[in-house]
Amino acid sequence: MEFDHLMKILMVGDSGVGKSSLLIRFTSDTFADMSSPTIGVDFKLKMVNKGEKRVKLTLWDTAGQERFRTLTSSYYRGAQGIVLVYDVTRRQTFTNLSDVWLKEIERYSTKEDCIKMLVGNKLDLESERVVTKKEGVDFARRHGCLFLEASAKSSTNVKLCFDELVQKILETP
Ligand code: GDP
Repeated sequence: MEFDHLMKILMVGDSGVGKSSLLIRFTSDTFADMSSPTIGVDFKLKMVNKGEKRVKLTLWDTAGQERFRTLTSSYYRGAQGIVLVYDVTRRQTFTNLSDVWLKEIERYSTKEDCIKMLVGNKLDLESERVVTKKEGVDFARRHGCLFLEASAKSSTNVKLCFDELVQKILETP
């Protein structure tokens, strides 16, 4: 299919935060409550329109390898956008963003001006929330990320998250 731009976007974050679910919600508009951690997605394609332009997204998932902290440099190579995901109901997934994932990105990402979108997922579990929205906002500001809270389950902000990321990539020279 014809396109004007081709973008590589990565999903990064601890196992179980909802990386695959966000991708599946975005690309197929569905959700599975009992997704098996062994059935990781490799990557998905999605066409989006931005004004007159057609953008072909290649959306990369970790296929469960993040459990062993073995994402390799080839996973990061050439990515224009990274979606950093944590679970608002699990503090550890938030602290691991700076302790683990940002360090990996710095080490492996080949593109200096790679755009980062921080996503606090599982917003539908508001009563179980332990990471506040303000903490997300502050983290994003400190590390130069866009930021949204979202829910793959209720579909809140999922499309917006990819839309804003793509928009920002297009605006970045
Ligand atoms: P990944 O390991 O980061 O790819 O996470 P998955 O997408 O496999 O999701 C892990 C578990 O969290 C699964 O049981 C999902 O059904 C569940 N999950 C994912 N997103 C949400 C969400 O927005 N809300 C709720 N309540 N559960 C979610």
